[in-house]
Amino acid sequence: MERPLSEQYASFLHDESRLRGEADAISFPRAAEEAREIVRRCLAAGKPMTAQGSRTGICGGAAPSRGHVMNLSEMNRPLNISRDAGGNFCLTVQPGYILSRLGSDLRSRRFEWLEPDLVDRDAARAFKEAPEQFWPPDPWPPDPSELTASIGGVASTNGRGPGAFKYGAAKNFIASLKALTHDGEIREIQSGDDLFEALIGGEGMFGVITELTLRLMPRPGEIWGILFFFNDENQAAAFIDRTASFDLEPLAALDFMDAASLKLIGQLKRAAAKLKELPDAPPEAQAAVYLELHADSESEIEGAAGELMEAAEAFGGDPDLSWALSGDETEKTRLFRHAAPEAVNARLDEIRLDFPGAVKLGGDMTLPGLSFLESLAMYRRAVRESALEAVIFGHARDNHLHVNLLPHDENERRKALDLMAAWLERSRSLKGRLFLEHGVGKVKSGLFLACEEPRVIKARRELKERLDPEGLWNPGNMFQEGA
Ligand SMILES: Cc1cc2nc3c(=O)[nH]c(=O)nc-3n(C[C@H](O)[C@H](O)[C@H](O)COP(=O)(O)OP(=O)(O)OC[C@H]3O[C@@H](n4cnc5c(N)ncnc54)[C@H](O)[C@@H]3O)c2cc1C
Repeated sequence: MERPLSEQYASFLHDESRLRGEADAISFPRAAEEAREIVRRCLAAGKPMTAQGSRTGICGGAAPSRGHVMNLSEMNRPLNISRDAGGNFCLTVQPGYILSRLGSDLRSRRFEWLEPDLVDRDAARAFKEAPEQFWPPDPWPPDPSELTASIGGVASTNGRGPGAFKYGAAKNFIASLKALTHDGEIREIQSGDDLFEALIGGEGMFGVITELTLRLMPRPGEIWGILFFFNDENQAAAFIDRTASFDLEPLAALDFMDAASLKLIGQLKRAAAKLKELPDAPPEAQAAVYLELHADSESEIEGAAGELMEAAEAFGGDPDLSWALSGDETEKTRLFRHAAPEAVNARLDEIRLDFPGAVKLGGDMTLPGLSFLESLAMYRRAVRESALEAVIFGHARDNHLHVNLLPHDENERRKALDLMAAWLERSRSLKGRLFLEHGVGKVKSGLFLACEEPRVIKARRELKERLDPEGLWNPGNMFQEGA
């Protein structure tokens, strides 16, 4: 059940941030009752515990600081299908069920139920006959990067796929949970309950989620992915600002990628087989804008695409060089967009050969009230003055750009932290949202304590004291130990 954390399990000491933690034991429970027994033993021994999903997190949230690691990847099966009061389908899953599996099971309508006898037969039959369903926080169709993320991890970071532009974060599509709490009990928690609010986006600091019921939606009949390339990043930003005045119901994703992102994607493309069949970005492109359109009718989507193409052209986006793909082909545009964070991770690994202390430091705050052009200009100016290596991509809505700073030595690492702190202050002064989709974890706990609104920190601290009086859930996350 519990195994010593020997070298064999060394990869379970870090997540995608590359921050390496420490622990003395690890377990891979297969069922909630088994997880409960382990938690009870840890509680009795006063041993801290860190819950882990697939370790795709990029803030060190799943990297343990000490004690026991509970990895939930073997609790990975669907449990039941049901219908809510509004007739919508709901899928209940174990926390280690991963996004790509969810996507393919929903498409094939075939589930490997943990206990087939417990499945609601009427709902299962109706599901087979209903229009295809999807879970909006899950990027569709499958791409190979964070789609290995577990549903428990997505809930614990309140994650967002590219479709957050239209659908919002994971919380909107979780009806209820079951979780192990600090008294070693498994509780059933409904959306809206205090504990539900704490656990969603709670980064494993308030308990272990053992079961989730997901709200599904009928998949839009038409899905298009579009990539516009621009020879000037300010023109790309001005195009994004222009779209804000459009009334485009089908617009589901609107993301930006800078020249450094395009260059790194080009390099990754040469090395990664799955990217090889994608066309190359035009060599002179200095920026790209990725859009997704979801609608039920082709005419609706064509109207929106036409309006966007015209606007992109007005800002120098050559229609002949843009990519517009539909249906299953959309996967290619998605792959391209998702190659950006992957390419940054690959670059970070290169840098770590000379500077092992390099960890991923990516901006994750909104800048409301500014235009997209102003936001990008602010980041670009600061990056240029600092002379740090940086890769900028991210979401247009609320100017939620991820500026990835890649320090090459200790001095640059400190400079990067100062820059990140200055941007968080700027976001706060604009009443923006800080640490929005990647969490705080351990990598950003110093920034969280220095830059977040004092009332937010106080509320989190009080919640932590109330729901984890012994301080045993994921120590070091958000609040540094002893702080
Ligand atoms: C290439 C790449 C692209 C990414 N793109 C996005 C993106 O577009 N949007 C986005 O939101 N995120 C993105 N991420 C970040 C990451 O994938 C998400 O945060 C994801 O939801 C984490 O899931 P996980 O299973 O890997 O969780 P982990 O990394 O294992 O854990 C994340 C946190 O959740 C806690 N946790 C995990 N499981 C449980 C559980 N069952 N109970 C309690 N706590 C738990 C952990 O303690 C930790 O604090 C990206 C990451 C990568 C590497």
